[in-house]
Amino acid sequence: MSKIKKILILGGGFGGINVLRLIQNKFKNNSNIKISIVSQDNYFLYTPMLPQVSSGLIHPNDITVPIRKLCKQAEFYHAAVSYIDMKQKLVTVTREFDGKVHALEYDYLVITLGSNTNFFDNENIEKHAFTIKTVEDALSINFNVINMLENAAQTSDLEFKKELMTFTVVGGGFAGVETMGEINQLVRDSVKNFYPSIGQENISMNLIASKDYILSELGPKLGKLAGKYLKKAGVNVLTKTKAVDAGEDYVQLDNGKIIPCMTLIWAAGVDVEPIVSEIDCIHKKSGKLKVDKYLKVLEHDHVFALGDCALITNPITGEAYPTTAQNSIHQSVTVANNLFSVISGKSNLKEYSFKSKGMMTTLGRKVAIAVLFGRPITGSLAWLIWRTYYLSQLPTLEKKYQVATSWLADLLFKRDLTFIGLIKSKFLTKVDIKSDSPSVKDFFK
Ligand SMILES: Cc1cc2nc3c(=O)[nH]c(=O)nc-3n(C[C@H](O)[C@H](O)[C@H](O)COP(=O)(O)OP(=O)(O)OC[C@H]3O[C@@H](n4cnc5c(N)ncnc54)[C@H](O)[C@@H]3O)c2cc1C
Repeated sequence: MSKIKKILILGGGFGGINVLRLIQNKFKNNSNIKISIVSQDNYFLYTPMLPQVSSGLIHPNDITVPIRKLCKQAEFYHAAVSYIDMKQKLVTVTREFDGKVHALEYDYLVITLGSNTNFFDNENIEKHAFTIKTVEDALSINFNVINMLENAAQTSDLEFKKELMTFTVVGGGFAGVETMGEINQLVRDSVKNFYPSIGQENISMNLIASKDYILSELGPKLGKLAGKYLKKAGVNVLTKTKAVDAGEDYVQLDNGKIIPCMTLIWAAGVDVEPIVSEIDCIHKKSGKLKVDKYLKVLEHDHVFALGDCALITNPITGEAYPTTAQNSIHQSVTVANNLFSVISGKSNLKEYSFKSKGMMTTLGRKVAIAVLFGRPITGSLAWLIWRTYYLSQLPTLEKKYQVATSWLADLLFKRDLTFIGLIKSKFLTKVDIKSDSPSVKDFFK
């Protein structure tokens, strides 16, 4: 039997790259450990700043880190996980550049494949709405906003101009609220500085939230205050409301109202990746993986799961931990420690428990809202704390520098309104890259 133990990490997000970083340190220069990581994106994405890409405040590359840069003693596979077979300890992956399928063997598996956007089976909304989950999503929103501005500036039909200038975001959580705050600022500033013929009075911004107040994670007092800040900035905040249908130029609400609008952004829910819900193991009803207090998948001692794809219960409150980057990062510490203990034959596994020190969100230029150590903070102080904290959490010095530079440029200059449009890509059919890894087998030649 081989002495070499193979650790396979699935996913290069908050959970994946932090487990990678920690176990590389723990098994530094240990030639009996082979670490591999698979991700369908060849970069880590710092999602809390994604809404700022949608408004053109920062560049996509400011918040992405190529995973290879983080692989000190690990092998990276730029591929999509297509099947996880826990009985045979095999994962099949489809390579990005040629669509070839491979099988990767493992002794220890870490599943951290994140989540998908949930449209709750509403095909019309899925067809017509933008989403805010990936770099492509954020860029699409940014180009769309600029396109709407260019068109609105050229039309003499007032009703159509208003439709072009109506932006509706569905979702009162962090992603929806931050995206609304960013777009509101981009559109209003752009009309003021570059598109005076549109007129501020023709802009309409709508935030649709199903709960009594937005940002329910922050509690009713701050959630309602956040709503007031947004209203003051010109956003119609419609609470206790759901979007039930959409078309190319409208969104319909559950109270029967139809909002004519050309731009709908959906940030109202997340779902488990089908690859995860199809794994032959014990799941929660939602499809999330059921793990024990050590974050091991139930009945699979060699498999750990964390982040948005796992349902982890807080032992104190009995409720599920929220799906946040904060939780994924803390869970990665427990997973790395326990993985190290299991491989080293130690029995002192650590239980996962985490009490958040705070939460915060931006609402536009120089306005944010936060709860830190139980204390509410609002306005420009919260905004400054948000920027300082999130800048410090970016994974590399290079990215901290890039984001700080983009923020500085935004304070000094007006926003860039370049409309780049579609990108052409080439599919490689002839390339055959041979892998000398003994753990890779060609399934289909
Ligand atoms: C716009 C936005 C703003 C947010 N703001 C905040 C915030 O301010 N604070 C906060 O705490 N949280 C925030 N979140 C939530 C946070 O991003 C997630 O909770 C966190 O990313 C979860 O980490 P994860 O490792 O489980 O998944 P992810 O970080 O999503 O990583 C999943 C990884 O798996 C890869 N992957 C998925 N499927 C496959 C497949 N089939 N094959 C191969 N690879 C695959 C993906 O490419 C990715 O690398 C925000 C999310 C969004 C979308």
